[in-house]
Amino acid sequence: MTSVLDDSSAQTTGERQTPSVGLIGWRGMVGSVLTQRMLDEGDFAHINPVFFSTSNAGGAAPEFDGVSAEETTLQDAYDIDTLAKLPIIVTMQGGDYTNEVYPKLRAAGWDGIWIDAASALRMSENSIIVLDPINRDVIDAGLKAGVKEFVGGNCTVSCMLMGLGGLFKQDLVEWGTAMTYQAASGGGAKHMRELLTQFGDLHGTVAAELSDPASAILEIDRKVLASQRGELDASQFGVPLAGSLIPWIDADLGNGVSKEEWKGGVETNKILGRGENLAPGVTRRGESIPFESLCVRIGALRSHSQALTLKLREDIPVSEIEQIIDSGTEWASVVPNEKDATMNQLTPVAATGELTIPVGRIRKLEMGPEYISAFTVGDQLLWGAAEPLRRMLMITIGQL
Ligand code: NAP
Repeated sequence: MTSVLDDSSAQTTGERQTPSVGLIGWRGMVGSVLTQRMLDEGDFAHINPVFFSTSNAGGAAPEFDGVSAEETTLQDAYDIDTLAKLPIIVTMQGGDYTNEVYPKLRAAGWDGIWIDAASALRMSENSIIVLDPINRDVIDAGLKAGVKEFVGGNCTVSCMLMGLGGLFKQDLVEWGTAMTYQAASGGGAKHMRELLTQFGDLHGTVAAELSDPASAILEIDRKVLASQRGELDASQFGVPLAGSLIPWIDADLGNGVSKEEWKGGVETNKILGRGENLAPGVTRRGESIPFESLCVRIGALRSHSQALTLKLREDIPVSEIEQIIDSGTEWASVVPNEKDATMNQLTPVAATGELTIPVGRIRKLEMGPEYISAFTVGDQLLWGAAEPLRRMLMITIGQL
């Protein structure tokens, strides 16, 4: 069989039955989760994967049970000519890579579909932020109009919409705020390692005292604090995270707002087809919904949590709100606002590795009958990163 890399006509003539798909960043955190989900769902049966690398071009391509790739070596992820032969490229490599390669690829005349985990192109006027259980209509309108840039959303935003999407879909939210509790893994593999190492180092500092039930707790506290303020390695996060928290995520925009907080508002609206920079073919679905965040890094390993305050447009009974949330997407699941259910079902430990997005702590607030609270947790590597990309690939090739 002729490889698509030897046959540049295949992407335009439509001769090839199984589309070739370039996969970049497949061994990173998002890429590993995406690959596993594609294996779980049998997605590789519908594509001919071509694996790329930024660091090991010419090395052996990965082998997965039941997956046959025509190219058995890793291709150079910076080789524009090779990339340009592919009709579809999925990248989980990161924003620097996108910023370097994507403009060159388009400048070389490449007309294919680009599916990306990085934030670099999210607010481009030619891109659609993909979260198909919430915005399949936006995606379909864009595809019909010839949009070729599809970008996964910010992890916290995507998880929030997967949980509370029912209220947004029915246009019941007048405004909202999210106070987030974001896991170390949002920063990548090195950040997870640093947090765990910090926990270990702190324990080591007071291991002897902990094994002695009679030791003074204030002495333990003093030693831990001295370690946090002293020798603890915090080269990834900048300051200690174990036994502490960091109320700033991503860049400082210089106006008191972090980039992560800015994303919360603009991306929520763009996904819903309400914001700025809507792609061609996407008709505006209404005014922007004011949505504010205060984003905090905590010592959870994986899965982002957030506490929401929403002002609804109407006074709706809690039971009805719960029903709207529960049926908003196939994956949203309401947790009763009771202590045992909350403690067992509404934590990062409970949510990690699961596609289900639990939503709990739903109740009316003192401020008035339209005000509600809610708390949600989502595995940010699944719905917050890999799953929308995997599904967009399947939509692109007509399998979803
Ligand atoms: P990552 O784990 O750092 O992986 C990115 C790349 O780093 C890999 O593709 C790999 O490229 C290279 N790499 C170098 N050393 C590695 C090692 N020891 N193991 C694995 N890969 C190594 O990044 P990520 O967290 O997956 O994020 C990728 C993109 O997704 C970013 O734009 C990020 O903002 C976005 N995103 C991340 C999350 C999240 O929760 N982490 C959520 C949503 C979106 P080569 O194989 O080419 O060397």
